[in-house]
Amino acid sequence: MSVHHNQLTRFMFDDKPVRGLHIGLDSVWQHILAHKSYPAAIRSALGELTAAAVLLAANLKFDGSLTLQVQGRGVLKMLVAEATAAGTCRATARWDEQAVVDEDTGLAELLGEGGMFVLTLQTDNGEPWQGVVPLEGGSVAEMLMGYMARSEQLDTHISLAADAHTAAGLLLQRLPEEAIEADAWQETVALADTVQAAELTDVDAHTLLYRLFHQTPPRVFEPQSIEFACTCSRGKVSDMLLLLGGEEVGSAVAEQGSIEINCDFCHQRYVFDEMEINALFGADVVSPFVSGSPNGLQ
Ligand SMILES: [Zn+2]
Repeated sequence: MSVHHNQLTRFMFDDKPVRGLHIGLDSVWQHILAHKSYPAAIRSALGELTAAAVLLAANLKFDGSLTLQVQGRGVLKMLVAEATAAGTCRATARWDEQAVVDEDTGLAELLGEGGMFVLTLQTDNGEPWQGVVPLEGGSVAEMLMGYMARSEQLDTHISLAADAHTAAGLLLQRLPEEAIEADAWQETVALADTVQAAELTDVDAHTLLYRLFHQTPPRVFEPQSIEFACTCSRGKVSDMLLLLGGEEVGSAVAEQGSIEINCDFCHQRYVFDEMEINALFGADVVSPFVSGSPNGLQ
């Protein structure tokens, strides 16, 4: 079932200062899911976070990326979803893969005590900006709305849903520069709130918007395509190995013959053999650890 075609759709109401965005990821979402077998509860939360990242990145006023990260100490250790202003996204999760996760387990229970939510904004050529707050709310949407209510002046309403095929979301935002009667905003939110998870995942943007707001349907703009893209590279992996240091990397290569790093987002394999590692560090960091040498490690 592919009704969305990975499209991001902007809309605006002519009769009130409210704008909105709809995202429906299908093949992009399926691509993200392809390499790991996510328990359904974790898959849902990750899909919701991915849809949310795309919605929020669409409002960025600079060239760069927005990353939403949820950290926990329960079965679920981390969800991370990143989206760029240029229309790409990637996402991954870490969890206790030995654990049996019930399909109905809520986000709060998955994360356990002391969960944190981290939002990072990164311009293409500048320092990152990061906001960190304790996790509140029973769903990704509640968590985000709580965060935005604390940190932003703009009223924002978000609905999210995800299953094995689709990750989708709807965002409403009150325009800052214009006055709106509180009732008109509340009414629009109340209409958006009637959306069912299955409608978000299974109904195309136009039909959904008409269904929700049929008395005063919004103006709908040309959609933008969202693509999967990973920003990993051999150069970035090299930088990471340099940070780990010659001792740790050299001993690993001496033991295994090479070192292999897999990207968590796109599952690209990066393999470095002894020669490449020595070239990277500009010194022979492997030999001291080869078995039989004076301080050799097994
Ligand atoms: Zn990658």
